[in-house]
Amino acid sequence: MAAKLVYSFGEGGADGANADKLLLGGKGAGLAEMSRLGIPVPPGFTITTEVCAFVQAHGGGYPEALRDEVEEHLRVLERRMGRRFGDAADPLLVSVRSGAAISMPGMMDTILNLGLNRDGVRGMEAAGCDPRWARDCYRRLLQMYGDVVLEVDKERFEARLSDARAREGVATDAELGAAALDDVIAAYESLLAEAGKPFPQEPREQLWGAIGAVFGSWDNRRARDYRRLHGISESLGTAVNVQAMVFGNRGPDCATGVAFTRNPATGERKFFGEYLVNAQGEDVVAGIRTPQSIEGRDGDAGMRRDFPAAYEQLHEVAGRLERHFRDMQDLEFTVEAGKLFLLQTRGGKRTGPAAVRIAVEMAEEGLLRAEEAVQRVEPEQLAQLLAPGFDIEEKRRAVAGGRLLARGLPAGPGAACGKMALTAERAAEMAAHGPVLLVREETSPEDIVGMHASSGILTARGGMTSHAAVVARGLGKPCVVGAEALHVDSRGGVLRVGERVLHEGDELSIDGSTGEVIAGKLHPHPSPIIREVVEGVAAADPRPAEAFTRLLGWADAARRLEVRANADTPEDARVARAFGARGIGLCRTEHMFFAEDRIAWVRQMILAHDEGERKAALAQLLPVQQADFEGIFAAMNGMPVTVRLLDPPLHEFLPHEPKAIARLAGQMGLDAARVEDAVHALEEVNPMLGHRGCRLGLTAPDIYRMQVEAIARAACNRKRAGDEVLVEIMHPLVGTEEEIAELRRLTQEVVERVLGEERLQLPVLIGTMIEVPRACTVADRIAAHADFFSFGTNDLTQMTYGFSRDDVGRFLPLYVEQGILPFDPFARLDEEGVGQLVAMACERGRRTKPSLKLGICGEHGGEPHSVAFFDSVGLDYVSCSPYRVPIARLAAARCRLKMDRAAEAA
Ligand code: ADP
Ligand code: MG
Ligand code: MG
Repeated sequence: MAAKLVYSFGEGGADGANADKLLLGGKGAGLAEMSRLGIPVPPGFTITTEVCAFVQAHGGGYPEALRDEVEEHLRVLERRMGRRFGDAADPLLVSVRSGAAISMPGMMDTILNLGLNRDGVRGMEAAGCDPRWARDCYRRLLQMYGDVVLEVDKERFEARLSDARAREGVATDAELGAAALDDVIAAYESLLAEAGKPFPQEPREQLWGAIGAVFGSWDNRRARDYRRLHGISESLGTAVNVQAMVFGNRGPDCATGVAFTRNPATGERKFFGEYLVNAQGEDVVAGIRTPQSIEGRDGDAGMRRDFPAAYEQLHEVAGRLERHFRDMQDLEFTVEAGKLFLLQTRGGKRTGPAAVRIAVEMAEEGLLRAEEAVQRVEPEQLAQLLAPGFDIEEKRRAVAGGRLLARGLPAGPGAACGKMALTAERAAEMAAHGPVLLVREETSPEDIVGMHASSGILTARGGMTSHAAVVARGLGKPCVVGAEALHVDSRGGVLRVGERVLHEGDELSIDGSTGEVIAGKLHPHPSPIIREVVEGVAAADPRPAEAFTRLLGWADAARRLEVRANADTPEDARVARAFGARGIGLCRTEHMFFAEDRIAWVRQMILAHDEGERKAALAQLLPVQQADFEGIFAAMNGMPVTVRLLDPPLHEFLPHEPKAIARLAGQMGLDAARVEDAVHALEEVNPMLGHRGCRLGLTAPDIYRMQVEAIARAACNRKRAGDEVLVEIMHPLVGTEEEIAELRRLTQEVVERVLGEERLQLPVLIGTMIEVPRACTVADRIAAHADFFSFGTNDLTQMTYGFSRDDVGRFLPLYVEQGILPFDPFARLDEEGVGQLVAMACERGRRTKPSLKLGICGEHGGEPHSVAFFDSVGLDYVSCSPYRVPIARLAAARCRLKMDRAAEAA
């Protein structure tokens, strides 16, 4: 434990040389840094995250020196503010704020106006303070302290508050007068007393209660859920900030607000924010009143008119902070009697489209280097840019047809539709059966799991910076907030809009890019980026696609790994190429077999009586397969294409229903009983471990011969047509040297025959998938017969764990929840297990054949963590689904840049 436990900030300076986020938490470091920059920040001090770790390790106990250090810093604060903590006449009030190293919005609890008690209220009033304000501060303290420290249900305070509003006939708390607030205070105090938790009148007891609650809140369920969902380490801990209060609730010349230096939804370089007059802290974020726009909205002049000086200064400070931190900032501020105070600055959460645009524009403005811009965008954020929107025409018709229920604020772009759920718990349950839209009056941190389960989020209240909006953007979910026409009755399970009543479970659609809420289901259409990049259709606003292309160009310059795509059709190949794939890493041939015009021949081949019948069926299949390959080779002109020979067990191609069997028998002129026998004969107890892959190729070699011939002839035709064809023929499921040796012989023989007949020269590589654990251990021998390896990490994961991919649903979610597995190894490569086999195979394979080409074509090829691992073990390329190609390109660049940075630091 470092010697110093508490750090002060304020009056143009701060303790310590550099603001250390890990030690002071993000909020504390930001406050210290702003203070150092001479930005107006109320003074205060930060108790470090190391104390949090100590508390966790010592069952709530504090380090011995803590009390003295806090007292010492409290004295400094009193001196700076000219007030004493606990003074009955004119008390120093503070906020106690949590702040972890990684910002966790709304996850930890903050208490305002601490240090106030009944005597203090009287003292303030006697000293000439506005009684309404003094009482409002105290009633807020009772409510926050009661909720956070004493753990009395928030709803019970809200109920008493809304009773008071009803009694007074007013809509908002700001309109409650001093007398009404007295009633609320009395109601709160008796609520706490009845709960056996009277509010502590002693300010120091309040302070330590609050500090303990903040440290304790690191371990509350919603904080743990948030960390689990975002992969944040449990050991980081939170700091506690104690800061002198400034008051946005002191009258009409006071306000509180939040601002972003650029638009967090679109990335546009335009100052953006919201504020509430005569309000305090959480009011803006909690969406209790819908706030005003700083820059004005719908003819409203905004802050420029109400608070001209504070507005100018905020503008200037925002620009300065953005340049200082070289990132878009999310600011929290308060105006007290016209004077501006900054209360927080942090890197703002943003949508995927905003992340790309901000990174690229900041590089263009000279604020970032291109490599830094690449580091600023999480690969998964690109998925959001490629997310669908609604079909404009369909939406227009729905609106014209009276299905537009409401318009809210467009808080998270993208289109979502689904059955509506009115509580987070219901959303989580319903999500198991299809897409769900979570519809709430407003959301709170308790809703996080339900928000995660939903495909979109809609709230009746709140602004662009409300909890719902911030969380949805972080999750990349479409979100509409502040749709005030909606009345959500979560108990009754109904949503009322004017005269209309919708029920939980009804279909609903939201457009998070426009704020529209539409009854019923609409059909989403591809993102404009996809239309522009893949289909060449120009978008109305060219900026998003330009930024996307630019960023990926920078990524390409930084990466070593090549990126290919898994594509089975010419159409897939075209999309893959448009997204920057440099080849096809996996072209599966079985999908071709299922096409309507071929399945009959496939079945005939499987059920053939004799050699002659089988050859006849294969002869029918050859030209259609050849045509498929020609299409793919043409689309990938100049780039390698890896074609995998038939992989699944044959019974997958046969019908299993008696009716379908009878129909097939009829088509083939066979006896139904015979077909049924053949189907049964092919059944296996464990087909995924059975007669499939190269085992089929070796026991029924005519199938592979036909496929190799189709590939070779297609390649010859395309070559004659002027294309450059780079063919790689891949054998699945190889586990022994003898298998690949024999398959290589077979393949080479057919290729040579065809090339001889066609009188052409073509480079044809012959290789194998590595997906059986044994193949990894004997990779040195297999490499003697293979030009390339391609890791089939789906099967390799299945066989390494002994988990059947088709059955893991029964236990894997539980495993992850209970922490038995840190994540789903089918989605993200298990580096310490499966990854070691991959590394071993690479090393052994290259020992035999240094020129061995190495790639991966499992699902993991498009997953950023896995991509970094594949880079580190020296693969040449990753191959993933066409739509994940941009994600893999960015991931491949980021892991290289990270290594470069680490090397520089060493
Ligand atoms: P969160 O981590 O949830 O953002 P904060 O600690 O930032 O919580 O507190 C929430 C809000 O409370 C702030 O945005 C600010 O408006 C208000 N607040 C916190 N401390 C003070 C203070 N010392 N003076 C005035 N308002 C404060
Ligand atoms: Mg905050
Ligand atoms: Mg496989």
